[in-house]
Amino acid sequence: AADNVKASNVAKIKVVVRKRPLNKKELAKNEEDIIDTYSNSLVVHETKLKVDLTEYVEKHEFVFDAVLNEEVSNDEVYRETVEPIVPIIFQRTKATCFAYGQTGSGKTFTMKPLPLKAVRDILRLMHHTYRNQGFQLFVSFFEIYGGKLFDLLSDRKKLCMREDGKQQVCIVGLQEYRVSDVETVKELIEKGNATRSTGTTGANEESSRSHAILQLTIKRSADGSESKPARVVGKLSFIDLAGSERGADTTDNDKQTRMEGAEINKSLLALKECIRALDNDQGHIPFRGSKLTEVLRDSFVGNSRTVMISCISPNAGSCEHTLNTLRYADRVK
Ligand code: ADP
Ligand code: MG
Repeated sequence: AADNVKASNVAKIKVVVRKRPLNKKELAKNEEDIIDTYSNSLVVHETKLKVDLTEYVEKHEFVFDAVLNEEVSNDEVYRETVEPIVPIIFQRTKATCFAYGQTGSGKTFTMKPLPLKAVRDILRLMHHTYRNQGFQLFVSFFEIYGGKLFDLLSDRKKLCMREDGKQQVCIVGLQEYRVSDVETVKELIEKGNATRSTGTTGANEESSRSHAILQLTIKRSADGSESKPARVVGKLSFIDLAGSERGADTTDNDKQTRMEGAEINKSLLALKECIRALDNDQGHIPFRGSKLTEVLRDSFVGNSRTVMISCISPNAGSCEHTLNTLRYADRVK
């Protein structure tokens, strides 16, 4: 059935929320789960104080394309988000899947398995539906840290970006591996994840300040043979965004942290504007607002699809960040 999917039947923008379970630390502190989920909506119970300091609960309801609760598996997340867009990247479509949310909300947990499952399905299509038609699959993996690009498959080699005048983005020197089996991709992803910014303060701390971008590119030569140079047909990008709370690090005492915070803030705002512009079919897409959106330029023009997975923590202590994430997702929708 997947073989017959028409691009026009797949929504241009899909916004999905994923709630993670309470973790051990939160359970040990007897923290309350303040999120009620339904199939495509959720309610956040925010505890507030009146002027006389008595507590009351304010309820916030949000509606999305889908809400995935803490019992939903990574397989189900794949089926709900990426599976429907895999077939259409063979039909000249650029698709992007984002994981958005505060540090610790489950972005990496959610994002990590998705590219591998997509590769499995892409290879299946290449070997069956598109057998002997000369399609080739390539993988690249890089990060944007402090507004600069680093190749995660090439020892964090610094990269620069160029536009070729035909609205194509070219990242000079980016390693692209041609792949034909899932195992190789798995190894590349593991290598890339191990190479992500770790700095001095510990892995999760630093990786929360960078955007990690894994791209699967489908190419094909003009006559479908192996001898002619291959051209890009479609692309599927997976983006594990910087922790959304990092955009607020703009008043930190440390200059470096402040600069990174400002850059993250700028990129997340620019991303929201670009996705909104996509939905409105506006001619002008404000991708020049940040490095992230510039890099994704070719995924915002022409035939494109966007899936936003907003990850949220269930605990009362994360309420403010959770509401910020949901409001962001609401604006994108
Ligand atoms: P982020 O990338 O947003 O900072 P992580 O993906 O690293 O967050 O998740 C934080 C922790 O919570 C990790 O230990 C991860 O394994 C766990 N976790 C996240 N989402 C889930 C989930 N849906 N089910 C079980 N554990 C989860
Ligand atoms: Mg992470």
